[in-house]
Amino acid sequence: MDVKEKIEQLREELREHNYKYYVLDNPTISDYEFDMKLKELESLEQQYPEYNDESSPTVRVGGQVTKNFNTVVHDYRMYSLDNSYSVEELLEWEKRIRKILGDVKLSYTCELKYDGASISITYEDGVLIRALTRGDGFQGDDVTTNIKTIRSVPLKLKGDFPKRFDIRGEIVLPLKGFEQMNKERLARGEEAYMNPRNTASGSLKLQDSKVVAERPLECLPYSIAGRRLGIVTQYEMLDSARTWGFKVPEQAALCNNIEDVKEFIRYWDIHRHDLPYETDGVVIKVNKLNQQEELGYTAKSPRWALAYKFKSEQASTVLQKISYQVGRTGAITPVANLEPVLLAGTTVKRASLHNADQIAKLDVREGDTVFVEKGGEIIPKITKVDISKRPDNSVPTVYIEHCPECGTQLKRQEGEAQHFCPNDTGCPPQITGRIQHFISRKAMDIEGLGGETVELLFEEGLINNYADLYILTKEDLLPLERMAEKSADNLIQGVAASVAIPFERVLFALGIRYVGETVAKKLAKAFKNIDAIMNADAELLSQVDEIGERIAQSVVEFFDSPQNKELIERLRAHGLQFSLTEEELLNQTEKLKGLSFVVSGVFHNITRPELKKLIEDNGGKVSSSISSKTNYVLAGDNMGPSKRSKAEDLGVPIISEEEFMGKVQ
Ligand code: AMP
Ligand code: ZN
Repeated sequence: MDVKEKIEQLREELREHNYKYYVLDNPTISDYEFDMKLKELESLEQQYPEYNDESSPTVRVGGQVTKNFNTVVHDYRMYSLDNSYSVEELLEWEKRIRKILGDVKLSYTCELKYDGASISITYEDGVLIRALTRGDGFQGDDVTTNIKTIRSVPLKLKGDFPKRFDIRGEIVLPLKGFEQMNKERLARGEEAYMNPRNTASGSLKLQDSKVVAERPLECLPYSIAGRRLGIVTQYEMLDSARTWGFKVPEQAALCNNIEDVKEFIRYWDIHRHDLPYETDGVVIKVNKLNQQEELGYTAKSPRWALAYKFKSEQASTVLQKISYQVGRTGAITPVANLEPVLLAGTTVKRASLHNADQIAKLDVREGDTVFVEKGGEIIPKITKVDISKRPDNSVPTVYIEHCPECGTQLKRQEGEAQHFCPNDTGCPPQITGRIQHFISRKAMDIEGLGGETVELLFEEGLINNYADLYILTKEDLLPLERMAEKSADNLIQGVAASVAIPFERVLFALGIRYVGETVAKKLAKAFKNIDAIMNADAELLSQVDEIGERIAQSVVEFFDSPQNKELIERLRAHGLQFSLTEEELLNQTEKLKGLSFVVSGVFHNITRPELKKLIEDNGGKVSSSISSKTNYVLAGDNMGPSKRSKAEDLGVPIISEEEFMGKVQ
């Protein structure tokens, strides 16, 4: 099989597995196997850019950056929907329709109204060619590169599809994924996103498609626009889209009369909370497309469709007390403790107040009667104060100045909404949080020890920081509840084994604010040992590629603290890795410092990953596309002709494997 066939075959296989996984929810190979195949394809595509394909499964990974989103006119206008809030309004709508259509048999397709951002995606000859936001309905923004990263959006269609059409759908962020994103943000010391809808629509306009690719967005299609589609009903439209490879939600139902429509609404008003994403109503559409045509449109919306909005889930209750929670990064979240009230089927006792600004904006006070709403957030929020019920003796809320857990004076950084407790080494929730981070998989990966045990060990006074883990003995552990001999052994062994973890991960494990995995790697590489980092000032630190002022400042602050210094010394005494190993050092130079390389083609004596590592180890940078900032193109055999001409146009020198080796040896 030649290379071209191999590439085609991999693409086809990956396309099918992607479909099984993301559309059918029924994968037939492991994630690992999938990743391996994807890597293989990626590497072949890099070697043979002449077989480039805009619909290759590799574009899902993202990477393209869009600085300005072009405005493009829709082929078919995108309309709004008329809203209704009661069954009476629904019945009136039906009357209006009957008046126009006369005495005919009417059926309806009922769908859920997904709460996200609308999108219109154009396919031509079965290939995704463009994706536009709704914009003002007449024209929208071209967000094609971002949409292509969404796994449930087919890049190529299956089956028997029309030559060209637009499919409309809603881009949503399922609740689980949203929660997970927020968890990770909080762990990095960033503020949580407010709700899934805003986050989904914000994602469409991110410049870096790689960031979009990391978000678990979904596309839920609901209609098709085009000529000669060969489709006669709305319900059939949904079905057809399914056969072409789209993930059309299964809840849609065909209703033969308005009674069935009412039943559909009743059912989903309750059961929508079981769905993985948010919905805010039901959309009722006249099923036959020729009837739709006869009904036509008003200035803004189709006459043949109606949105029934679920009742906004709001309740009013008394705010008894405002309390403050301390997160594991020290971030303070004010919480409203409420007189229990029934809201959307659950009893609500607490609501988030987000931050000091939010409290000031609402002017919310203890003793106030407030409105709580269950919107996109996982915990309900307070939307308004009922001023008419405010008690005479009410006093404005004064935001706390000291940490409720440890008493330290709170701080608030320029431009940040949240206060935080700076006592990172003495504040209980921060202490356990840091230890939990220290032992986590990507950090010290300590087997036999979990988050709950950390809390238990802390409560029992056995550990106060991560260095204490290394002095735990079996005798300390055995008296603890649920700690069998075997688990105690495992824990001790796990801790002992962690001394072999490489420096860059130890650095990450320390839990320095803003120092994530990648930053830790960069710092380890640039400074080679912990002492050099400790002795560096912010200016020196920020000379490292991608280390900004904020990170540099945070590193300096961390090592300024005498407690942290002591911790490092203790860890060092226990034998943890605080410098690059001899072997790592040997291979590191600064011979290529400040130089940027693009690698292309096939090499004889070295693999591409090895080459890239060599460049990075010698202080150089590897990028994937040629620009005026590229210093050298490192070319093997069969370098793509387009790359070659681009390099020549920009005057970037093209060097061979041998010439390159000469530079680093
Ligand atoms: P509105 O923005 O209130 O005018 O409502 C119209 C919007 O509802 C459309 O632009 C779609 O993005 C969204 N929508 C969500 N689910 C559906 C659905 N099943 N059918 C049609 N539109 C929907
Ligand atoms: Zn504190």
